[in-house]
Amino acid sequence: MNTERNDAPAASNFIRNIIDDDNRTGKWSQRVETRFPPEPNGYLHIGHAKSICLNFGVARSYGGVCHLRFDDTNPEKESVEYVESIIDSVRWLGFEWEKNRTEHLYYASDYYDKLYEFAELLIQRGKAYVDSQSAEEIRANRGSATEVGTPSRFRERSAEENLDLFRRMKAGEFKEGEHVLRAKIDMASPNFNMRDPVIYRIRFAHHYRTGDAWCVYPMYDYTHCISDALENITHSLCTLEFEDHRPLYDWILNELAEAGIFKRPLPQQIEFSRLNLTYAITSKRKLLQLVTEGHVEGWDDPRMPTIVGVRRRGFTPESIQLFCERIGVTKVDSWIDMSVFEGALRDDLDDKAPRIAAVLDPVKLIIDNFPERLTEPCHAPVHPHHPEQGLREFPISRELWIERDDFTETPPKGYFRLFPGNKVRLRYGYVIECTHADKDENGNIVAVHCNYFPDSKSGTEGANNYKVKGNIHWVSAAAACPAEVRIYDRLFKEPQPDAGGRDFLEALNPDSKRVVQAYLETGAHHALPEQRYQFERHGYFVADRVDSKPGKPVFNRIVSLRDSWGKPA
Ligand code: ATP
Ligand code: MG
Repeated sequence: MNTERNDAPAASNFIRNIIDDDNRTGKWSQRVETRFPPEPNGYLHIGHAKSICLNFGVARSYGGVCHLRFDDTNPEKESVEYVESIIDSVRWLGFEWEKNRTEHLYYASDYYDKLYEFAELLIQRGKAYVDSQSAEEIRANRGSATEVGTPSRFRERSAEENLDLFRRMKAGEFKEGEHVLRAKIDMASPNFNMRDPVIYRIRFAHHYRTGDAWCVYPMYDYTHCISDALENITHSLCTLEFEDHRPLYDWILNELAEAGIFKRPLPQQIEFSRLNLTYAITSKRKLLQLVTEGHVEGWDDPRMPTIVGVRRRGFTPESIQLFCERIGVTKVDSWIDMSVFEGALRDDLDDKAPRIAAVLDPVKLIIDNFPERLTEPCHAPVHPHHPEQGLREFPISRELWIERDDFTETPPKGYFRLFPGNKVRLRYGYVIECTHADKDENGNIVAVHCNYFPDSKSGTEGANNYKVKGNIHWVSAAAACPAEVRIYDRLFKEPQPDAGGRDFLEALNPDSKRVVQAYLETGAHHALPEQRYQFERHGYFVADRVDSKPGKPVFNRIVSLRDSWGKPA
């Protein structure tokens, strides 16, 4: 597998080099205008984030603007729900499409009149014709990699006849598939996209914005370049699979420039490699399948690689931007390892996230010599590297919660935590010595007992008299914040779940979600939705933005402290 680990920030890339050259030659008079053109037929995913960070990032750093354009020419699959979530996701990622108080938010469907008008113009100029072959005939006559295509018997229709037929297509006089409009280019071209591509088809479908006004809809290749030119886009950045479409992009714009519609220079299409992330899927169709078949709990399930999913999981916009910077932009398709994405999150949150103690698999610890009614405050830094953020306070009392695996009756070699006769420090509290444990009738441990040394408190002089190897975290049973914590893991067991056309559902990780009832340090009572913490010794967690209630947070594990995937626990 070709995975890439690249930790250096991308200073420059081939796209910036092109823009720098254009600025040197004055091609666009120093103007940089890009666009991000999602089709509103699904939720954005992490692959789109790469395109968003690139398009908006480039525009921002050159003092230009990036348009948000909905490429909405497939009436059947598009909806307002998707439009709204896309707008929300791009904003959340930290980008805007406003410049000098002008909003650059566009819809390809707003160009239907113009697109239609230009199609008539191409017909009049002998550059497009109505083809009445069946879809199968058109396919069969396309030719192959070794054979040129066969011109349609309708290819030489007169402009008048074409215009009449095209107008009647628009008027709804024909059935779907009876006619299409094709660009008249070159049936012998080695590039299939140039063998008279279809640019309009009949569809009796309701469009979420234009309703039933149209029954002919323009194709993507025709719409995209014209939308770019209408919006004065300078650099049209897209993924590599469109490289073969570039001659068509240029042909259409050139023909319309010849007809006096567009001025030169014309927008330039530039391709870059798409993001493939291991242990994730970046196909809208497959993501939709995960949702509709109930393999996840919705588009914003914290295991989904959608923007709404990674947001709910707890990823920050800054970590996603950092990730996109680190992976850079190239023309070589490759797989990026999930650990690079998680690493960017850790690097962002290590500095930002306040620390708290959390016991995820609790068992009682009873300090037998601690006075029954006593509670004593303990203190710890909010953030170990930011003393200016001050101290947090939490009480210690006779009964505490500790992690079940911080106690064992029969310690393996190198185990320094609790076992009968051993001493450990309760982090930010006292040194204790373990005495014994209570068990139920099945032999399960229900409570661990210990005694404490009253002169050993952290931060006091006596603390130094005790040398212990183990240091465990804990929360006071009386003051703890009980909370549901969702321990998320990777959604797929395998790095390339859909490689080679394989059924990606077979690679689903059955342990990708585990729910535990945890006890958190008392301060967690006040956690607001989307507030992030480092749970000491465990990892980074966020208060779930949907299910948290005031005073009753629900937490999601964003990522563990270290990359331990695939390594023995
Ligand atoms: P579909 O999965 O339905 O084919 P798509 O992923 O291409 O669609 P669009 O809404 O057409 O989705 O994409 C909007 C923009 O995002 C396009 O410019 C596309 O090239 C870019 N994009 C999509 N997927 C990725 C990816 N994995 N990496 C980088 N850019 C991407
Ligand atoms: Mg697409």
